[in-house]
Formats: sequence, C-alpha cells, structure tokens
Amino acid sequence: MKQEICFIGALVLNKIKLEKEAMLKMLAIYCKSKHKHQAGLCEKCVELLEEVHRRLEHCRFGDNKPACGSCNINCYRGDKFKEVAAIMRYSGPRMLFYHPILTIQHLIDVKFKNKR
Ligand SMILES: [Zn+2]
Repeated sequence: MKQEICFIGALVLNKIKLEKEAMLKMLAIYCKSKHKHQAGLCEKCVELLEEVHRRLEHCRFGDNKPACGSCNINCYRGDKFKEVAAIMRYSGPRMLFYHPILTIQHLIDVKFKNKR
C-alpha cells in the first residue's frame, strides 16, 4: 500500500523522472531483443537515451506534460522520430508484462490528460 501511494505520488509530482525511467526500461527491452545486447544498453541506445532525457528535461510542460504519444509538439524529427516510435511500438506492449505498474500509470495518463 505504501508503495502504491509512492507510485501515485511520483505520477503526480515527478512526471519527468517517471518518463525517464519508462524510457530506460523500454530501451532495455528493445536493445536486448533487437541489438542482442545482454547487459545494459549498447552504445547507440545509450546515445538515444541521453537525447530522450535531454528532451524530457526541456519539455515545456514540465511535470504537467501529457504522455509523449498524445502531445502535439513534436520533440523528435526525421530519423530520431522513427527510432523513438519504433522503440515505443515494440516495447510498449511488452512493458505491461515486465513493468505493469509503470504501464498502468502511463495508460491513466494517456486517458485523462490528452484532452487538453
Ligand atoms: Zn541497442
């Protein structure tokens, strides 16, 4: 119970941190199966993670940000967009299995916050 409160608190108060964590986990799933990298992330994925973290830190909505997928400001363009989209498409459904609480938080977020 205490842990649940902590998670809900993180959702409300520390959105950016939560999204960073989610991205790290999605990249780890993607890297492991697509790049056959066993421990941690390959060089390319580390680079992409840093880029994503930089974007999140500079997100104009801060901790009020909507989920990236329902935001109409396109942080990523061209090849970066394709890469990030591919990772989310691949790892998104798998996140429910590996990290259910994080996924549920994300779904709540998409459902309630994208009507702005
Ligand atoms: Zn990789």
